[in-house]
Amino acid sequence: MGLPVYLDYNATTPVRKEALEAMLPYFSERFGNAASPHLFGKEAQDAVEAARTTLATHLGTSPQEWIFTSGATEALNLALQGVAAAYRESGKNHLLLAATEHKAVLDPAQALQQQGWTVELLPVTPEGLAEPDTLRKHLRPSTLLVAIMLANNETGVVQRIHELARLTHEAGAFFLCDTTQAIGKIPVSLPDLDVDIAVLSAHKFYGPKGIGALFIRRKNPRVVLRPLLYGGGHERGLRSGTLAVPLIVGMAAALQATLTELPAATERLLSLREKLWQGIQALYPSARVNGASAPRLPNTLSVTFPGLKASDIMARAPYLGVATGSACTSAKPEPSHVLLAMGLSPAEAKATLRFSLGLPTTEADIDLALDYLRVALSALAPA
Ligand code: PLP
Repeated sequence: MGLPVYLDYNATTPVRKEALEAMLPYFSERFGNAASPHLFGKEAQDAVEAARTTLATHLGTSPQEWIFTSGATEALNLALQGVAAAYRESGKNHLLLAATEHKAVLDPAQALQQQGWTVELLPVTPEGLAEPDTLRKHLRPSTLLVAIMLANNETGVVQRIHELARLTHEAGAFFLCDTTQAIGKIPVSLPDLDVDIAVLSAHKFYGPKGIGALFIRRKNPRVVLRPLLYGGGHERGLRSGTLAVPLIVGMAAALQATLTELPAATERLLSLREKLWQGIQALYPSARVNGASAPRLPNTLSVTFPGLKASDIMARAPYLGVATGSACTSAKPEPSHVLLAMGLSPAEAKATLRFSLGLPTTEADIDLALDYLRVALSALAPA
């Protein structure tokens, strides 16, 4: 039996101690429904509003601009479908999305396309960057919304959002930024980015699974949404359903603790990632990093091993928890649309592994991961 090494923190993270401790009382003694008018409800509601203020303060917004959801997928669906429904009669029917967006953006947009919306994908450079000039050429008078993520989940490539948002606003459209992977990994100020809609998901920054939030700008410009869920009128009528008080409390505590640790963690992760990359290069000199010269998240390393299949490497390194460059959403894994959009061939995309480091990652984890890779690579490509 080998020791397992987890290097898949972009997929999910463990709940950190501060978050778990903050949550526990809200499962038991403080179990009130935040919508109840009595003191038990008030206690829960106060906790929810304190959490909302924590999110807002750390991200530079006002608390009223946040709606709690079950995660980023729901938040993105509410944003895309909700904006589309609210502006259906506006005469604008064009949605422009970066080709490297997450499926949680691409799939709701595809559903909207089936309802008559014009959906267009914005190409990216081989480094995975959306260029302002390319965006300018694709914006139309009929563009209602542009969606470009801050940090890519597969490559870690960080977009220069401010300039892209400015061009979008000049064209009279809204800017949606999927900030799911960036929040907790790099400093994020939504006013500095100048985005109108953003999302987050607690399980990406050491909070619990099943909770996230949607930011919608209230002024300059004001964004109007139609809800997806109708019920008790919670969250100003935009997301009905009893609030998940313990998860909301845990999300805020996780964000607070993770951001406090961010400067020190960033340096440590960058040096661990460099150690991993040096080790991989020594084992497989033709290996390449995707998005190598673009700004990237400090924890993410997407590596293509030309001539190999990522699934074969994983099969020979069963104690290594990493992700492949394919979307394993079906029995037949498709090559990653992100890597294809960056110009990789399907074979190169399928030869790609994503390593994503996290706060618990140690030097010993990197050494062990390299040992497992050495065994796998020497079996697959004997020197
Ligand atoms: N957007 C990005 C960039 C992601 O990486 C993810 C999670 O993988 C999501 C959205 C969806 O997040 P959730 O798991 O909260 O639905």
